[in-house]
Amino acid sequence: MPKSLPIRCWLLLCALGGLCALCASPAPADERSPDVTEPPAYDQFIIVPLRIHILSADDLPDIDCKLTDADVVRIIGKANGIWHQAGVHLGLESIVHEAAAHKDEFRMALEKSGPDALELYKLLRPQASRDFAGMHVYYIHRFAVNGVFVGDGTAFVQETASLRTVEGGIDEPIPRVTAHELGHAMGLSHRQNRTNLMASGTTGTLLNATEVERVREHVRHAPGAMSASEAHEAATNATKKGDAATATRTWGWLSEIPGDGAEEAKGHLAGPPAPANRPVGKAPYSNCPPLARHSSPPP
Ligand SMILES: [Zn+2]
Repeated sequence: MPKSLPIRCWLLLCALGGLCALCASPAPADERSPDVTEPPAYDQFIIVPLRIHILSADDLPDIDCKLTDADVVRIIGKANGIWHQAGVHLGLESIVHEAAAHKDEFRMALEKSGPDALELYKLLRPQASRDFAGMHVYYIHRFAVNGVFVGDGTAFVQETASLRTVEGGIDEPIPRVTAHELGHAMGLSHRQNRTNLMASGTTGTLLNATEVERVREHVRHAPGAMSASEAHEAATNATKKGDAATATRTWGWLSEIPGDGAEEAKGHLAGPPAPANRPVGKAPYSNCPPLARHSSPPP
């Protein structure tokens, strides 16, 4: 997000894609920048941890999200298929199923301000699961936009997302919307080229070299981010110390990155089984369980 842009303005830009071409025209250099078509070498990858929140609310049907863990694994696998072209791997840290917070306050504020007051959705985040060095995506059932970046590495996405199909685009809306909002979280503005990731409301997934460079510079300093070699070191140390949760999670991330280090990571995962995975969600957040091996489906 551009530092000069107040968050309220940014929310509006993201929500109202049609206005963005006027308000946030990309620099000419962006337009001339070639699309990136291949991921970088394995050791150039940066892993950014990501916590997924599935919000429930019996009395707020527009919030109550029904996505399953399997849905999330598929969605993030596809989002990684997009972000790998930038050498960024979204490391799925945990999937937290939780009740929406501050529902009465949210309901009253929404009635007063209207459905376009997207900042209000931040109220729904339970406090206990917010303390985490990484990015957050909250899935809800439905709101006025497909998704919105609300600052602090946090986005909301509706499970009912729909997009305009463009040539070469992705086959499912939610992974694209998730990847788009995380693009904002990683420093990108809109670029209305239809077939690219940062165009508003399309299935496009392309990133150009300027965007890739910008994102990589941004995530190097992002909370929890680590290079592939740092992750390898952390996974090795966790294995030596018998920290099965960290080892499984980190080798899992390393096994999902395309390139020559994935096989070694898979070998570590195929070793003696870690303690039985507890169900994800409703777990103590300070000690999130490793996710079961989640292989990335092809993009
Ligand atoms: Zn946007």
